[in-house]
Amino acid sequence: MKRSEKGERIRAILDELIPEVPIPLDHQSPYQLLVAVALSAQTTDERVNMVTPGLFAAAPTPKEMARLSADQILEHIRTCGLAPTKAKNVKKMAEQLVELHDGEVPASFEALEALPGVGHKTASVVMAQAFDIPAFPVDTHIHRLAARWGLSDGRSVEKTERDLKAVFPEDSWNRLHLQIIYFGRQYCPAQRHDLAGCPICGWAATKKRIAEEAGRKPRNTGGGAAPRTRGRSKARRGRISEV
Ligand code: SF4
Repeated sequence: MKRSEKGERIRAILDELIPEVPIPLDHQSPYQLLVAVALSAQTTDERVNMVTPGLFAAAPTPKEMARLSADQILEHIRTCGLAPTKAKNVKKMAEQLVELHDGEVPASFEALEALPGVGHKTASVVMAQAFDIPAFPVDTHIHRLAARWGLSDGRSVEKTERDLKAVFPEDSWNRLHLQIIYFGRQYCPAQRHDLAGCPICGWAATKKRIAEEAGRKPRNTGGGAAPRTRGRSKARRGRISEV
């Protein structure tokens, strides 16, 4: 099956399983989304949504955030991973937005990635979710699934992003990246499990990949039945059996 056909079939399944794609991080402005995404590194979205109401009540805009000290910011975000570094970056980011961008969030990859604590993935999320500009932010869920589904070779996050952008139409990227994240969180364990019974991996993954994920050596990478495992995947337990 060609990658483009695979992509179409995966999109159809995701549209059925994940029809709604709310933005996971609460925010009232592009600036608040930018801060929330920066805080979400190595932290769950739920945790970020717990700390941002207090932070944004104290400093809803870059101008007000720049007036807080890093320690004051840290008090609000202490329960997030890497909080001391993030507090310093949030302050520096606010100062740069005020100094260089008149207190506005720039709708440009280059300008966003020049801000402290903002990498390509964070910039991509802001471009997609705040400005509706096509982007394909690749997090660990998307990176892993693209490899499992045979849409990329999994060599690097950059390669995965390029491959996914080539497979899927541009006007689907913003929706699709959220669908894959929600699907991954809901259904896909990080560790080895039986891919063969899954409505996506069951046909999209190679037999070699299915065997590797199940923790066994492939018996025949050129064809034949997929190996079975003792454990039952979430898919096999019927969580996604409607597809
Ligand atoms: S087999 Fe597992 S990793 Fe692959 S899509 Fe299904 S649940 Fe996710």
